[in-house]
Amino acid sequence: MVLDAFSVRVALGVVTVTLFILFCASFHRTRSPYAGWWSLALLEFMVGNAAFLLNGTTHQQWANPVGNVLVVAGAFSVWAGARSLRDLKTTPWQLAVGAGITAVASVLEDPGTNVWSGGFVYLAMMTVGIALAAKDLWFIKASHSQVHKALSLAAGLLALYYLGRWGVYAAEGPTSATFRTYFGPAPSGLVSMVLLVTVSFSMTALTSDQLIKGLKERAARDHLTGLLNRGTFLELATGELNRLRATESGVAIVLADLDHFKAVNDEYGHGAGDVALKAFAAACTASARSTDLIARYGGEEFILFLPGATQERAESIASEISRRMAAMAVPEGVTFPTISYGVTSSPRAAADLAFMIEVADAALYSAKAQGRNRIVGADRLEAAIIADEARS
Ligand code: GH3
Ligand code: MG
Ligand code: MG
Repeated sequence: MVLDAFSVRVALGVVTVTLFILFCASFHRTRSPYAGWWSLALLEFMVGNAAFLLNGTTHQQWANPVGNVLVVAGAFSVWAGARSLRDLKTTPWQLAVGAGITAVASVLEDPGTNVWSGGFVYLAMMTVGIALAAKDLWFIKASHSQVHKALSLAAGLLALYYLGRWGVYAAEGPTSATFRTYFGPAPSGLVSMVLLVTVSFSMTALTSDQLIKGLKERAARDHLTGLLNRGTFLELATGELNRLRATESGVAIVLADLDHFKAVNDEYGHGAGDVALKAFAAACTASARSTDLIARYGGEEFILFLPGATQERAESIASEISRRMAAMAVPEGVTFPTISYGVTSSPRAAADLAFMIEVADAALYSAKAQGRNRIVGADRLEAAIIADEARS
C-alpha cells in the first residue's frame, strides 16, 4: 500500500504546529538561542509543508517553489541552532545560500505542472543542511550530558535518508516505484514526524543543559571583574591543593588589597573605583598563568592561588601585577591606588588552604602596617609570629 501523501502532510502539519507553539513558549521563557533557532526551523517547516498542500491547485506555480525554499531554510536553521550551541555565529549568507540555490532551481523546471521542479537541488540542499547540523551537534562541548550525541546521530540518519532520496531521485526519477515507496512525500513525511518529535524532546534537555551551564558559570564568577568569586575559589583551590599534595609540588598564595581604596571612591566617585577594580583584575590575569586561580576575595581584596610556584616566584608575580597596574591607562584626573600584598608559600603543598590564607592575611596586614605599597612575604616558620603580631 502506498501511503496517502495528503493525510501524512496534514498530520505532519499538526505535529509541527504543536511543537512550534511549545518551543515559542520555551524561547520566550529561556531566551536560549537554540530554542529560538528551533522555533524558526519549525515555523519554516510548517509554512513550507502548508505550501505543498497547494500542489495540484492553480497556486502550485508559486507555492511549490516556496515550499522547497522554506523547508531547505528550515534545515539550515537547525544547523544555525546547532552552531549556537557551540557559541558559533552563523552569517546571513551561510543561512541563505542553500535556500537561494533551491529557489533558482525550483522555478526553472516548470513548477506550475511539475511538483518535482528543482527536486534534484532541493534534495541535495536538504542533505547538506541536515548533515551540517549533525556535524555541529556532534562537536558541542558537553558539560554534563551526552544528549547532543544522540541528536547528532538522529540528524545523521536523517541526512543519510535524504542522501538516499537524492540518489534514487537522480537514478530512477520521482515516479519510480522505489522512490514512491521509500522516499516519496508520504514516507518522508512519516520519517520527518518521528524525528521532529524526537529532536524536540531532546532539545528540551539540551536547552536546560545550556541554561544550567550558563547559571553555573555566572554563579562561579564575580559580576564586576569576571574573576572567580570567593566560594568558587575556595572550592577549586581545595581540590587543586589535594592534587598538588599527591604530586609533591609546591604552591603559593598571594593576597592583595588596594591601598586607601575608600579614598578613590570618595575623591573620584564609585564609577572610578569600579574602573580601578577591573584594571586590577586585568593586571592579575595578565601576570598569572592560565592554570593559576584568581579571585575577588572581598570588596577590594583579591587572592591568587599559584600551583607549582615558589615564594620567590609568587613575590615576583605580585610585583609584576603592580607594575602592570601602574602602567595602565587611567580615566582623566584619576590616580589608581597602589597595592599591598601578603605572600606565602608551601613546598610540597603541605599546609592547608585555610592556614595559608591566614598567613597571607597576616603578611598583608604587616604590609599595610609598614606603610602600604609593598609585598610582604611569609613562609610557614614566620607565619605564627606574624599572625601573633597581627592579633596583638
Ligand atoms: P586600606 O589601605 O587600609 O586597605 O584602606 P582602604 O580604604 O582600601 O580600605 P577600607 O576597607 O576602608 O575601604 C574599602 C573600600 O572599598 C570601601 C568600599 O566602599 C570599597 N568597595 C568595596 N567594593 C567595592 C566595589 O565593588 N566598587 C567600588 N567602587 N568600591 C568598593
Ligand atoms: Mg584596601
Ligand atoms: Mg580591604
